[in-house]
Amino acid sequence: MAHLDDDTISAIATPLGRGGIGIVRVSGPLVSQLAIKMCGELPPPRTATTTRFKDSLDNVLDEGIALFFPKPNSFTGEDVLELQGHGGQHVLNSLLRCTLSHGARIARPGEFTERAFLNDKLDLLQAEAVADLIDANSEHAVRSALRTLQGVFSAYVHELVEKITTIRVHVEAAIDFSDEDIDVLGDNAVRSSLEDVLELIRNIMAQASQGALLHEGIAVVIAGEPNAGKSSLLNAFAGTDSAIVTDIAGTTRDLLKEQLNIDGLPVHVTDTAGLRNTEDAVELEGVRRARDAVSKADRILLVVDGSTSTISEESISRNLRLLTDDDSTAQWTAANAHRLCLVINKVDLMEESSPRAGSTTYQEQTLQTFHIAAKHRQGIAAIGNWLKEGCGYESENENAFIARERHLEALRSAKELLDKAACGVSEQSHLELVAEDLRLSQQQLGSITGEFSSDDLLGEIFSSFCVGK
Ligand code: GDP
Repeated sequence: MAHLDDDTISAIATPLGRGGIGIVRVSGPLVSQLAIKMCGELPPPRTATTTRFKDSLDNVLDEGIALFFPKPNSFTGEDVLELQGHGGQHVLNSLLRCTLSHGARIARPGEFTERAFLNDKLDLLQAEAVADLIDANSEHAVRSALRTLQGVFSAYVHELVEKITTIRVHVEAAIDFSDEDIDVLGDNAVRSSLEDVLELIRNIMAQASQGALLHEGIAVVIAGEPNAGKSSLLNAFAGTDSAIVTDIAGTTRDLLKEQLNIDGLPVHVTDTAGLRNTEDAVELEGVRRARDAVSKADRILLVVDGSTSTISEESISRNLRLLTDDDSTAQWTAANAHRLCLVINKVDLMEESSPRAGSTTYQEQTLQTFHIAAKHRQGIAAIGNWLKEGCGYESENENAFIARERHLEALRSAKELLDKAACGVSEQSHLELVAEDLRLSQQQLGSITGEFSSDDLLGEIFSSFCVGK
């Protein structure tokens, strides 16, 4: 388990750049004496105090507000000082340097939140939610991260742990009294309590999967020949719901990756623009990467220009051959039809010019098909719905809390162990093993909230935070 050092840590807590206000935050045992040195006195607790920040030679570095939060009622649980100065990089750097000259050291990314966790101000779920709240790029994600931060998910996990404890007490008693004529398990109480716990964990898993979808999103590949309308489709998605948040320019080797969100669902899009059959070594590497993205994608949108090519088995095969190493596109389609859809674009230039959704039969498989006009943003919502439905995303779910794949994995393992325990109880055999399974399932649940977590995991989680948080 990670442990606290007694260093005093300091960091600029506001983003780099110019702004009206910038904040340097300090946490640790040296805070009071540092405040006296820099502000002339210790500000009264939790009271905005206008002051001049001075260095050790009495030079004024800036004028601003000092805020002192004595332990334990602070974010980190330690003495915390916030120096709110003017938001220029130079000013903030000089304030930061001054705190270092008084014995503080620069905080690592996430170290303030890590201290809050180690001082029991937050559990691990809530600490992760702090990062998710900062990174949230939709209102839905903000609301869900707030619910986790407020302890909604943690409360469910605690409820599970408590219920399992009660069952363990019964099972351990049955082991202790196994020689005597006391039928601890015979009245079915343990079995039905286990059923209740399994029902609860199933519900929590369903909700946590929604939360993990909000956090992780889905991976979508947009494929198709040049000029089919792939970029226009991307723009249409972005325009209807949100701005594109990342835009990593690609070369022929690198794929173009963008992130959008559809009703709050993060969609990581890989555009395989420029794909063609080639002998060129550099482009071949591009094709390899594109195929890799295709093999990992949750959904593949194959965009075809409906105004120039008739949609035939031959034209679909030509497109598909770019997406797979498989010699047989029929075999590949049979295995992947559920995640592949045909997007027939430029319906405005076609005779039958209305956007619609339907299906196409290809190699005896039914492929979901959308007729759209990407340029005019027609027919786009239907594709969005298909993506949302495919992963079971419920945009209307007001109770959603944010979760991560790591939490889902722990819940799955805990459930497996509970299933095993339930079997053991039904058979009334090997109660020691049942007790052990119950204990291990609690441990899995404890890893979600951070009660049983390795230093490596904690290091990985907190290092992904931004500095100053
Ligand atoms: P990409 O190469 O597959 O990314 O294709 P683009 O999105 O760049 O589109 C190629 C051309 O087709 C551009 O001139 C677009 O304006 C045009 N285009 C895209 N979608 C439509 C559409 O729905 N209707 C019409 N008429 N033109 C479109």
